[in-house]
Amino acid sequence: MTDDAPRSSRAVVIGGGLAGITSALRLADAGLDVTLLEGRPRLGGLAFSFRRGELTVDNGQHVYLRCCTAYRWFLDRVDGARLAPLQNRLDVPVLDVGRPSGPRLGRLRRNALPVPFHLAAGLATYPHLSLAERAGVGRAALALGRLDPDDPALDAVDFASWLARHGQSPRTIEALWDLVGVATLNATAPNSSLALAAKVFKTGLLSEPGAADIGWASVPLGEVHDTLAGKALDSAGVRTELRTKASALTRTEDGGWIVDTGGERIEAETVVLAVPQRETHDLLPEGALDEPGRLLDIGTSPILNVHVVYDREVLRRPFFAALGSPVQWVFDRTDASGLTGPGQYLAVSQSAADEEIDLPVAELRGRYLPELERLLPAARGAGIRDFFVTRERTATFAPAPGVGRLRPGARTRLPGLCLAGAWTATGWPATMEGAVRSGFSAADAALRALGRSHEHPLQEAA
Ligand SMILES: Cc1cc2nc3c(=O)[nH]c(=O)nc-3n(C[C@H](O)[C@H](O)[C@H](O)COP(=O)(O)OP(=O)(O)OC[C@H]3O[C@@H](n4cnc5c(N)ncnc54)[C@H](O)[C@@H]3O)c2cc1C
Repeated sequence: MTDDAPRSSRAVVIGGGLAGITSALRLADAGLDVTLLEGRPRLGGLAFSFRRGELTVDNGQHVYLRCCTAYRWFLDRVDGARLAPLQNRLDVPVLDVGRPSGPRLGRLRRNALPVPFHLAAGLATYPHLSLAERAGVGRAALALGRLDPDDPALDAVDFASWLARHGQSPRTIEALWDLVGVATLNATAPNSSLALAAKVFKTGLLSEPGAADIGWASVPLGEVHDTLAGKALDSAGVRTELRTKASALTRTEDGGWIVDTGGERIEAETVVLAVPQRETHDLLPEGALDEPGRLLDIGTSPILNVHVVYDREVLRRPFFAALGSPVQWVFDRTDASGLTGPGQYLAVSQSAADEEIDLPVAELRGRYLPELERLLPAARGAGIRDFFVTRERTATFAPAPGVGRLRPGARTRLPGLCLAGAWTATGWPATMEGAVRSGFSAADAALRALGRSHEHPLQEAA
């Protein structure tokens, strides 16, 4: 097809991350003719896999929680739920190696009691906090439960100040609030908006007993977010064009849209722009947002993953979190990666990694191998079959205080143009859940603009 003959399609979704895939599926499920454009040779955006020799490696460990109802809808929709199972009950081993008396293992667990008693027993036996600190955590959790994450006033406040005001010691912040918060928000408490922290802790810990049960893919992420998602898009009739980057977006005189991809122009009645905030800013036609410059004020936060393949088993658990060490969370990736022969592949997941993201591999090796030996005695005599790092400099938007007022909703001021992406105003931090939710919202807004009635997928799934 040439530039002179635009191809007609009712909806074009730009960006094949979780947000774009969700929008495309929703629009196709509502009966629209949908084209999905993705600049890279694969779907899945920031949550993907690549080959390294015999290994299939995830760019970074991804987990979700039982309360992530939208991401769970996505898993079901692409027929991938069985590949990313949830724990039966929250159980997080936490190994503290910073104590003078020697390493100590504790667990963050829940029982089957109703909220908030489901966590009380686990907290009461959590050995990394004193009795007084544990009681203080209970009081702060109840106070957190009374906050409204949608209250704009909360967005301006940082989480650390709120925790300090509620009697949380630096140790409590390290051993509990940041242990969970850094991994879910990708920022430490001083750098997190209270609104986003309240969203995470309230939804994850206080909405229902099983809300914080953890799930993760037992296969490479790409199998779910690329292969299965691609199949679901195909069966829904979506035309998926990989290696196809949208370079311009223009409004036609009759109120439609032309998406330029360099080689081709595609006509659409509605466009969902599901690309990161900077790319959105560059593609947005004039008048789409009141203050488009705000998109550039949304900061980003990095995540580093350190990958180590040992010549033997050094960890008997599927994962653990560490205290008193630069190591944050360690996951066993052996089976998921397809590693053959003797050995074990561990991924060390380091969130809010601003200080380490640009360090040379040799320096990271010098730092992390001894730390892993400190945490895992069996690693001390083990040989290293492989060591490498993956760096995601713009892994998430920075959940800094004030970010809420910078995040636009799905609707723009231009009819038929909608925004999606984990960075849009979902109320969630940058997560797979937020991405899928944003995809729903953009598709809903697009369908509404076309005068289509539809049911919300979470209602359908319920
Ligand atoms: C290392 C790492 C670990 C993480 N861990 C977790 C976790 O444990 N749990 C969790 O819930 N979340 C986690 N996240 C966050 C989660 O991956 C993201 O929030 C989510 O995947 C974002 O999806 P998205 O669709 O909004 O955006 P993206 O994934 O950024 O998708 C945007 C897509 O648009 C494409 N694109 C850009 N410009 C164009 C263009 N002009 N034309 C066509 N296509 C274009 C891009 O190639 C990309 O595929 C992690 C992220 C990283 C990087």
